[in-house]
Amino acid sequence: MSDIINILPDNVANQIAAGEVVDRPASAVKELLENAIDAGATSIQLILRDAGRTLIQVIDNGCGMSDSDARLCFERHATSKIHAADDLFAIRTMGFRGEALASIAAVAQVELRTRQLNNELGTCVLIEGCEVKSQEPCSCNAGTSISVKNLFYNIPARRNFLKKDSVELSHIDDIFRRVAIVNNHVAFSLHHNGKLLYDLHAGNKAQRIAAIFGSGSSERLYPISESTELVSVEGYVGKPEHVRKTRSEQYIFVNNRFIKHLALSTAVEKAYAELIPEKTYPSYFLFIQVDPSRIDVNIHPTKTEVRFVDEHALFAILRAATKKAIGQFSLATEIEFNPSTDIDFSPAPLEYTPREPHITFDPDYNPFRTPSASKPSSTFRSSGASFGSAGSRMAPSTSWEKECEAAKSQELAFAIPDTIEEQDQTDIPTPAVPISYKNTYIISTIKSGILVVHQQRAHERILFEELMARKSANVDSPVGAQQLLFPVTCTFSPSDGELMGELLGEIRSMGFAIDSMTPGTYVVTATPPNVQDGNLQSFFDQILADYKGTMMQKFGDKDAAICQSMARQMAVKAGAPLQPEEMQSIIGQLFACQVPNVAPNGKKTMIILNELDLEEKFK
Ligand code: ADP
Ligand code: MG
Repeated sequence: MSDIINILPDNVANQIAAGEVVDRPASAVKELLENAIDAGATSIQLILRDAGRTLIQVIDNGCGMSDSDARLCFERHATSKIHAADDLFAIRTMGFRGEALASIAAVAQVELRTRQLNNELGTCVLIEGCEVKSQEPCSCNAGTSISVKNLFYNIPARRNFLKKDSVELSHIDDIFRRVAIVNNHVAFSLHHNGKLLYDLHAGNKAQRIAAIFGSGSSERLYPISESTELVSVEGYVGKPEHVRKTRSEQYIFVNNRFIKHLALSTAVEKAYAELIPEKTYPSYFLFIQVDPSRIDVNIHPTKTEVRFVDEHALFAILRAATKKAIGQFSLATEIEFNPSTDIDFSPAPLEYTPREPHITFDPDYNPFRTPSASKPSSTFRSSGASFGSAGSRMAPSTSWEKECEAAKSQELAFAIPDTIEEQDQTDIPTPAVPISYKNTYIISTIKSGILVVHQQRAHERILFEELMARKSANVDSPVGAQQLLFPVTCTFSPSDGELMGELLGEIRSMGFAIDSMTPGTYVVTATPPNVQDGNLQSFFDQILADYKGTMMQKFGDKDAAICQSMARQMAVKAGAPLQPEEMQSIIGQLFACQVPNVAPNGKKTMIILNELDLEEKFK
């Protein structure tokens, strides 16, 4: 049999390798930004077109490259950062495998302009799919400018795999923030399609965090600082009363590299246990320095995972340091912290268990609870309980509810006969006093059997239809909105800020008075009833997170997506105790809905056990 093994040509090998390093515009951005940092730049500009699809340009004022290096840097395994295998154990730069530029050049059209400070002329290299098209002298600024054009122009499969621009841009945004947060001494700017999204001046870490996450962030964070022989930890952790509904403000950097590390994140979150509500997440920005030889370098540099030799000790130190930071700076009335309980931070052996500061807390303390909403039942009562069971409507309590009711009663005029008739007239609930099971299921009887209603899903359905009705009533100004005593400022990352801008019309029509102050900063002066002002930041964060998530795909409709997210947040929760009249009201309102049987998320709101079902059970 003849030989069948070939050595792959370089351009094919590079394309295959490129798949590992460059899988989307954001990963090319990461490599280029890190190269600029490694080159000692103090100013870095990132310029994008079409979320990096057509152009990614990084301009730095770093050390630049010589003529021959400008050509060599595109070769695979071309790196100035390691010379021998031993160097691997002392890596302090971002890149070291010499793969990034070769990979990028394999899948794009690249133009490199670079000049070293002492040279008068720079050099310009054009390279396309690994092939050098030209190299000639050029005049350019000291430093390096790399333009990556038409990414994946020669790999249609990968190009077609890219997501919508908004998704690709948000991946780039993630990368940009990770690099910018930790390199606070470097000035950064980011332009997308000609629009300036970030303009970050060199400053300290707190200033950098404030520039990215909004000026309010300094009030939401406590400093953290701890140093042992093994590790030093600096940074900021969020105050327990300013938790987020997503993990979007959690950053850990080890030796200036962003990492994801489950155990370390858990260590920080454990320090917050009992201090924050379930399913909420503290913010943190932690800058950890460890001896590079105590980290496993045998991991792929483009990945964010790391392995530590001293993981157990790091876990304990981080948890204790976070507890200390929260305890030290909290108001004594909120968390009683005993400052005389010192933590022993002497060098940590592997089996080290720290003595933790003794923190006592009020188990009923809930930083989110405003006095007016201290009881779940009152939360519900204020939530538009304007539709009693058939014929027994409660008086609307606010003008907003009146509005809603007016809008709905027109609808109900045709909605009730249609839907209920379809359903079977006999299913209109008889006014039996409902009972609650596990504060989650409301049990009542109707003519055709025993009705079991899931209180949270039912309420979500009710609020969803109310909000949609309000929206379609097309009220321009937020009638019935509650003026806030103090305006509330919410801050968003640039990409979230843009998204807020897109959704502003919808959000206003739900009853919010909200205006943009600066890019990424919004001021709320009025809210619909039953949205609590103390929680607006996380309320909007959740709307954005939901919106970016699956909802848009499911509904294909902004209004429905936002209404569902709002309804979900405003609804009475499973497990919350309700008064009999509140349960009655939920049943009544549910049956007045256009689609009473399912929650906006498609799950059942109720089940009916009829006589046959019961007979079956009693066989
Ligand atoms: P690595 O960063 O792993 O060394 P890269 O392919 O990213 O590999 O870069 C190859 C080499 O090109 C680097 O080691 C560096 O010497 C040079 N280089 C890349 N980008 C820049 C830049 N912006 N300024 C100066 N030199 C650069
Ligand atoms: Mg590199």
